[in-house]
Amino acid sequence: MKLSQRSGLVAPFEVMEVLAKAQAMERAGERVVHLEIGEPDFETPGPAVEEAVKAIREGHTRYTDSMGLAELRGAIATNLRGLCGVDIDPGAEIAVTSGVSGGLFLALASVLDPGDEVVLADPTYPCYQNFIRFLDGAPRMVPLVEEGFGLDIDRLQEALTPKSRAILLNSPSNPTGMLLEKKELRAITEITGERGIYVLVDEIYSSLVYDRKRAPSILETGYEGAIMLDGFSKLYAMTGWRLGYMAAGAEVIEAVRRLQQNFYICPSSIAQKAAIAALQCRREAEAMVREFDRRRRFVAERLRGMGGLRVREPLGAYYVFPDVSAISRDSFALASRLLEEAKVAVVPGRAFGEMGEGHLRFSYAASIEALEEGLDRVEKAIAGWSSGPSRTPPL
Ligand code: PLP
Repeated sequence: MKLSQRSGLVAPFEVMEVLAKAQAMERAGERVVHLEIGEPDFETPGPAVEEAVKAIREGHTRYTDSMGLAELRGAIATNLRGLCGVDIDPGAEIAVTSGVSGGLFLALASVLDPGDEVVLADPTYPCYQNFIRFLDGAPRMVPLVEEGFGLDIDRLQEALTPKSRAILLNSPSNPTGMLLEKKELRAITEITGERGIYVLVDEIYSSLVYDRKRAPSILETGYEGAIMLDGFSKLYAMTGWRLGYMAAGAEVIEAVRRLQQNFYICPSSIAQKAAIAALQCRREAEAMVREFDRRRRFVAERLRGMGGLRVREPLGAYYVFPDVSAISRDSFALASRLLEEAKVAVVPGRAFGEMGEGHLRFSYAASIEALEEGLDRVEKAIAGWSSGPSRTPPL
């Protein structure tokens, strides 16, 4: 039987493909070190777990308001006020969603018409392009500046056409670990303001930053077309709970409400109860961020010591994205070879866009022991390739 053409527009998510291959090797008895997954290895904070158990016991097991529990939306607004100094109306400007993924889909579905273009950074989170294509939109990539992966505002402006409906950015960025400063966010909204287009910023790694409390938010610009997405997966180690939220103008949120009512009804009631408690778990979250910071410096340092790799210390998220082009420009082949020979799973940079070619993404959401073992294996493999009898490049 025939599948839809629409479903064929969606390419596989490379990170999950690498994971599946690594798991198949494990089933065959290999011991693989996982540095591919962007998922905290920590447990969800105890109070959030307790709250979820209590919610089940007390019968909070029914549909909630489609926008999410009023108490949770209130807690999110309070949190945003504390961290970003912004006043968001929890009744009209916040929607709780099934992860940032669910929020992205609803937000894009609310603002895109067929043929509309959405400007994305290259490299960026690979799923964005698929959301846009699935909605009959057209992704338009803006290459980031090769040195340091910064966003060049002139290039961004050049990428805008009369068909542009939105810009979608990720800050801090997966895979680069770079973030947009407030003045860059302002410069972006100056350009988009002239054209009346939306600026969506996926801020899921906003609190996983290492030189401040939170990365600057698009909400701080006060831009009326700003759509900010954040969630509980990363900071609170709650990937499996599937909970996120967006803050945007009342009109967008009203459209999201209609879509959510129809497509998903509401996010999980139990996860929402847990999320209210999670927002109080500042101490636990800070401890995780401190540990990520330790790993970040460890991984950057180790990779820097490996011949030929160029490493920029990330400012946020939990990825290091070294330039490995001195070893190979073909990141797919290099990642495959590392998996097959060194039994270390990493993600090829090409999966994040053309500009990601010549890079590999190492996730440090893994224990320091796993990181040490994985990096030992990578170092050994690279050294072996460059000192073998033929001294030919490995790929
Ligand atoms: N956005 C980015 C940039 C991500 O890296 C990820 C997951 O890795 C997601 C969204 C998915 O978030 P969620 O678990 O909230 O759906």
